[in-house]
Amino acid sequence: MLHYHTHPVTAFQQNCSIVWCDATMEAAVIDPGGDLDELLAEVERRGLALQAIWLTHAHIDHAGGTGELAARLQLPIVGPHPGDQFWIDALPQQSAMFGFPPAEHFTPTRWLQDGDTVTIGRETLTVRHCPGHTPGHVVFHAPQIDRAFVGDVLFAGSIGRTDFPQGNHQQLIDSITQRLWPMGDQTVFIPGHGPESTFGRERRSNPYVGGT
Ligand SMILES: [Zn+2]
Ligand SMILES: [Zn+2]
Repeated sequence: MLHYHTHPVTAFQQNCSIVWCDATMEAAVIDPGGDLDELLAEVERRGLALQAIWLTHAHIDHAGGTGELAARLQLPIVGPHPGDQFWIDALPQQSAMFGFPPAEHFTPTRWLQDGDTVTIGRETLTVRHCPGHTPGHVVFHAPQIDRAFVGDVLFAGSIGRTDFPQGNHQQLIDSITQRLWPMGDQTVFIPGHGPESTFGRERRSNPYVGGT
């Protein structure tokens, strides 16, 4: 069975999730934006073997710790979609602008495309490309536990910002309505910031995408 633990990291309180297969105790970390020692202590405390880094997108609060963590533990970096290459290239400027520790450069071991799958232990998640907040944003869907790790696409009561370079509001709305809603109203999503919610609740009450 797939399990997860969400640990907010960085001054932005970004919801980094550690996901693992309880049959093998192998784990992946989604969006290690920073606070690596806290994350690794959590991995250790749960007796997990960290195998991979998965990225939803390359904003500093999500990807800032990736290069250092990958180098420290020799981990593969999976994702995001190639549309975010320019955000990876801009990590040094993002670090400086937001007062983060300098982010180490990295190159993804494997880029992700819509419909790809990622596996940890005996558990497989499906990748959906959800551009709009960033052009290369992906989400990870775990239907076996009705969960989706959606980064900054959708929040409880809100949606991702689209006022960054290559942000696109209509694309974001389309990503939410055409790629997230089909996962089902019962699906609990873990957003990049703030509390969890369900797609059903957001379809009813989210002021940006309610009634869609
Ligand atoms: Zn973001
Ligand atoms: Zn974020």
